[in-house]
Formats: sequence, C-alpha cells, structure tokens
Amino acid sequence: MSKPNLVIALTKGRILDEVLPLLAQADIVPAEDISSSRKLIFDTNLAHVKLMVIRGSDVPTYVEFGSADIGVVGKDLLLEYGDEAFYEPLDLDIARCRLMTAEPIGRPTPAGRLRVATKFVNIAKRYFAERGIQIELIKLNGALELAPSMGLADAIVDIVDTGKTLTANGLEAKEFIAHVTSRIIVNKASMKIKNAAIREILEKLSDAVAKRAS
Ligand code: AMP
Repeated sequence: MSKPNLVIALTKGRILDEVLPLLAQADIVPAEDISSSRKLIFDTNLAHVKLMVIRGSDVPTYVEFGSADIGVVGKDLLLEYGDEAFYEPLDLDIARCRLMTAEPIGRPTPAGRLRVATKFVNIAKRYFAERGIQIELIKLNGALELAPSMGLADAIVDIVDTGKTLTANGLEAKEFIAHVTSRIIVNKASMKIKNAAIREILEKLSDAVAKRAS
C-alpha cells in the first residue's frame, strides 16, 4: 500500500539550519538546496513527503488547519499561539534559547505601570498578570531592543541566546520566563488518518535526537 502524502512545515532561519541534519538522519532530504532557492515548497527524496519553508509564526496556523501535517517550530511561538490545536509529540532540542524580560543596563525598574514592548503579547500578558504586575503592552514585530532607548518602553520580553544583542543595545536580561527549544507539532486529524506514516517519521526523528544527545 502506498504511503499517504505528508507535508512538513519548517521554520526558516536558524531552526531550518539545525533541523535539516536531523531530517537527513530520519531519511528525509530535500530534492534541492533550500537555502539557495526562492521556492517555498520542496520535493524530497521520498515521493510522499514535501517540505514547506515559512515564518515560524505561520507554522502553527498551517498545522492547525491541516495544510501541513507536521510542523517544526520554536516553543516560544507555541506558548504565544497556544498549544491546544495540535499535538506536540517531540522536543527536537535544537535552537535552544530563553524567553526573558530585559531592561536598560543599571536602570532601576520604574514604579507603577510598566510599559512592555514585545511581539510575544500573550506570553507577556500571562507572565506579568501571574505576578500581579500592571503593564501597558506595546506590540512590535521586530527590533524590540530599540524600544527602551527610544523611549517607547521600560522593558521588553524577547528571546535571548548569548545575550550579545541585548548588550549591544544597552540592555540586560532580568527575569527568566521560559526555556525554548524547537518542537515537532502534528495536526490532530492527520495523526489519526496518517498514523503509521507519521509515527515512522517521529520514531526516526526521536532516534536522531537521542543519538545527537549521546
Ligand atoms: P543573542 O544575541 O545570541 O542573545 O540572540 C538574540 C537574538 O537572536 C534574538 O533577538 C532572536 O531574534 C534571535 N534568536 C536567538 N536564538 C534564537 C532561537 N533559538 N530562535 C529564534 N530566534 C533566536
């Protein structure tokens, strides 16, 4: 019996660079070089598997609505999007970073309502509400590190890896919010209808992750 068609949605950028070697170990190899192409969907060595390469924030949407069966996306975006809409069966343990609050170096946190700039509005709302801290939320889509020095915000909520981006912009990490790694997510209906084919990929990926860790 032929295997059902599977679409895997990948997050472009840093996660893509780290996930391609894991996919290769799971015997899934793009038919052409993804990084030198402007295409958004790619054939692979397996006739039934296609790869999509899109923005991380769009991966949960494609998987929730079943246009992609499987997705690879950072936990930061899953915390922001909500993780009810799909299964999250595997932590790939790649693209590790942290979600943190950050403020100008040496500046005491202002009293009263804190102005917080972030693209992670749901995460920030939840984090400060749980601590009883009143905030004014300012939604930005990028370059969050500029907001405090330009007088737009007192603090930001952002991803921190080495901390170099913060330091270069006169900021320091303050409060830890969550550890972030990339996860596999699976559409709920696909998991039922295409169970054997999806399970085979999950098992191979899981072996590849374990091999990498040992
Ligand atoms: P760093 O200067 O090493 O702390 O890197 C911080 C910046 O790199 C952040 O503002 C993010 O935009 C980006 N970044 C670092 N790690 C990741 C990751 N795992 N996933 C997505 N973006 C990341």
